[in-house]
This record gives sequence, C-alpha cells and structure tokens, in this order.
Amino acid sequence: MDIQKIKIKLEKELVLLEEEMHEVGRKNPSNPKKWEPVETDLNADMADGDEIADEMENFSENESILSKLEPQYNDVKDALEKIEKGTYGKCEIGGENITQARLKANPSARTCVKHSKKV
Ligand SMILES: [Zn+2]
Repeated sequence: MDIQKIKIKLEKELVLLEEEMHEVGRKNPSNPKKWEPVETDLNADMADGDEIADEMENFSENESILSKLEPQYNDVKDALEKIEKGTYGKCEIGGENITQARLKANPSARTCVKHSKKV
C-alpha cells in the first residue's frame, strides 16, 4: 500500500473540505475540531424584515451543511494524524488491518467493514 499517495489524497480532500466549510462557517477557536455556522453576509443596514428572515434561513442551511461536512473533515484529519503516528489502516474497534480495497474507496475509513456496520 502506498501510504504517500494516500496521504496526498487525504491532504487534498482536507483542503477542499476546509474551503467548503469556510464558506458556511468558522472554526471554533476553543475547539479546532468543532465548526460553527456563520450568517452569510447581508448588509445589515439595508436589511428589512424579509432579508432578516432570509438570513436566518441561511444560517440554518449553513448549520446543516456543516453538520455533514464536519465529521468528514474530522475523519480525514484523524486519518492524517494516524499516518504520522504509524497507526493508519487499523480498525478503531478491533485493531485489525482494514483491507486495501476499503481504504482505496474510503481513505479516511476508521473501521474495517465488519465493524463499520455496528457503528
Ligand atoms: Zn474491525
């Protein structure tokens, strides 16, 4: 298994995810693994009732986008950490090796196929 190739792939994915997340949120300064949604900028001086409603809708949309991206982001980040520590490719539940086919399809997989069904 070519770990360097996987690392490059994961790093690219991390950058893309981070870009996407920066559009709708920002990192929580006290917890780098947590992101908080931001309101998409509307000119506050110009905002009338409708625009404020739009803005709130925007905020909850951003929140739902983030709640999907955040776990992916953390999976990728953790996978990169594991590469550094030399524990990459091991199932987090049973400790057995994750198959190469699975890692190829999902380089940030945390568990083997068997254990993924129990999570
Ligand atoms: Zn397992």
